[in-house]
Amino acid sequence: MRHGIDTYRLLPERARLRYEGVKSMVCVISEKDVIVRKPHQCFGCLQSIQKGDPANRQVCTDSGEIYSLYMHTYCDSVMYEMLSIYGMDNEELLIEGCVTEYLREIEFDGSPLEYVLREC
Ligand SMILES: [Zn+2]
Repeated sequence: MRHGIDTYRLLPERARLRYEGVKSMVCVISEKDVIVRKPHQCFGCLQSIQKGDPANRQVCTDSGEIYSLYMHTYCDSVMYEMLSIYGMDNEELLIEGCVTEYLREIEFDGSPLEYVLREC
């Protein structure tokens, strides 16, 4: 039995997964795919996202502060897979560099991008 909130069930699956995982620490206000206008560090793999690259951006609040998290769109895919396997109840998964950690865990010897492309 989880939450039991009606709005919770109305969220798309993806948002619901995120919601479950981050509820106690941060609140995700918005999430969308963007083209970054300046370099950012990817939350998932800690590598840089270059100006002009597509990225997934989340705007979050935590203890009254508002900030943005950026992730490579392919890192976002890996994270989504990771969370659907381990479940979003496991908040410890959502740490900086978690995508790299996950690939190490499953013994994939390559970058997140290579991982996403491996089935093509
Ligand atoms: Zn990344």
